[in-house]
Amino acid sequence: MQRPLLLSGFMATGKSAVGRALAERRGAPFVDLDATIEARAGMSVAAFFADRGEAAFRTLETEILLETLESASSNPAPVVALGGGALLDRARRIDVLGRAVVVTLTAEPEEVARRAAQQGGIAKRPLLVGADPVARIEALLAARELSYLESHAQIRTDGRSLEEIAREVGVIWDEDAVCVAAGRDSYCVRIGADLIDTHLEGLIGSCSGALLVSDTNVAPLHGDKARKALAGITRRAEVLLTPGEEHKNLTGLAQIFQGAFEASLDRKATFVGLGGGVVTDMTGFAAATWVRGVRWIGLPTTLLSMVDASVGGKTAVDFHSAKNSVGAFWQPAGVICDVRTLLTETDRMYVGALSEVVKTALIGDPELFALLEDNHAAILRRDLDLMTEVVDRCVRVKARVVALDERESGIRATLNLGHTIGHALEAASGFTGLTHGEAVSLGLVAALRLGQRRGHTPADLTERVLRLLRTLGLPHALGEADLRKSTALLGHDKKRAGAQIKFVYAQDLGRVVPEAISLDDLTKLTPELAD
Ligand code: NAD
Repeated sequence: MQRPLLLSGFMATGKSAVGRALAERRGAPFVDLDATIEARAGMSVAAFFADRGEAAFRTLETEILLETLESASSNPAPVVALGGGALLDRARRIDVLGRAVVVTLTAEPEEVARRAAQQGGIAKRPLLVGADPVARIEALLAARELSYLESHAQIRTDGRSLEEIAREVGVIWDEDAVCVAAGRDSYCVRIGADLIDTHLEGLIGSCSGALLVSDTNVAPLHGDKARKALAGITRRAEVLLTPGEEHKNLTGLAQIFQGAFEASLDRKATFVGLGGGVVTDMTGFAAATWVRGVRWIGLPTTLLSMVDASVGGKTAVDFHSAKNSVGAFWQPAGVICDVRTLLTETDRMYVGALSEVVKTALIGDPELFALLEDNHAAILRRDLDLMTEVVDRCVRVKARVVALDERESGIRATLNLGHTIGHALEAASGFTGLTHGEAVSLGLVAALRLGQRRGHTPADLTERVLRLLRTLGLPHALGEADLRKSTALLGHDKKRAGAQIKFVYAQDLGRVVPEAISLDDLTKLTPELAD
């Protein structure tokens, strides 16, 4: 399925001309949003602004953009040239970024003024009227900078031919990556088979040196793919960590710093983390702190790290028993989820991580839930096309949630569905009896049953999720003794506020609600959650 291409950017950066050229090349429909608005309103954009004001214009613009996206056929999907202010509203932008590929075209202010004057004069551009155009353009560009940076790519247009720009935009469109909107630190997650071979070198770009971090399980299996991409970099080093959560600590971190030190890596260096969540978290944190911060690229190789650790910019190591207690928010420059690496992951880890996929579907993607139900055998076989779609959908849901709540103060908490009791069960098993994924599966069952008791979750939803967990080979039987032990541990849960625990309940596929529950009530209800 091809997603629509939206060309964003300031006025007179060539959105319509480039859009038309690319649409023609691809035999795709072309929509000029301003022209559609003018046709619908029966007046020019300038007249609309003068008559009804900018707010009314934005409302109509949004309405027509959404109509265009909703009615878009995916074969071929349309190319849409947006007005310069169409994606200024952040919530709208985040929504659109998940449904289309958005490319921002840029040009220097003087060039914009020159083109605007050429294309029918400043009078046709209501936002430039009555001012020194270059100064006005500079001020508007500064105010809109972040909204333009939150896109799949920014492409410079000054002094370049239409053909050249259209070709470059076409490449981004075809990649169909997921954009994680994080202001200046926005980045793309590329998902597919063998993408390390085809995309890593380009993503690394020019840098003064590179450090490849992996572990002794992953490097022999997939290290060569990454090494090939780094081969052209003169100053490079490799650090292989000892696998396992118990090594996600300051000693492992020091090993990474030692590698960077011996290779004399400076601020222009890039770190590359190839491995599961442990390697990803450690590489990210080392990158956040080495010479006060260097660029890093994530190459997650487990299902859990693809669907979870690849988005959100959380990096950390453990300190004694305190998990992830020493860390930082540090966004990668890009992430490549090469689903072929999943073929070597152990069955237990792979199947366990499917619980995070089920959770993600429950939170924000009913179609993903149906896809899991209809294709469970192929998913368990790790069919690469299906895994590409599954990972893509999960990353899109997490990217949307995280973009709306980067520092975990609001809706990001919904990602904890199944994790409150799940974590406690994992801790109660001494972090050895259950994998994280298995614990989340059980935590989901507990959360659904608790949701039923609290009037949030319909019984048929619980049944449907249980059926899916069972078909995927995930644990779903809740023993009363384990549950009692884990709810006792919840007293120490970091989400506890006073005697209340924040809980997330599922109301329907794609609809969850957070609500606090007192520790006393939870303890009382615990026996009812068991099988
Ligand atoms: P992991 O990184 O410990 O990997 C599990 C095991 O699989 C390791 O032995 C590893 O060497 C091996 N392995 C990895 N990829 C492989 C492959 N392709 N083929 C064969 N073996 C492979 O575990 P994980 O489940 O990937 O990640 C768990 C960690 O991720 C935890 O530390 C957790 O805190 C962290 N995490 C972070 C975030 C975040 O937002 N930063 C989110 C979720 C989890």
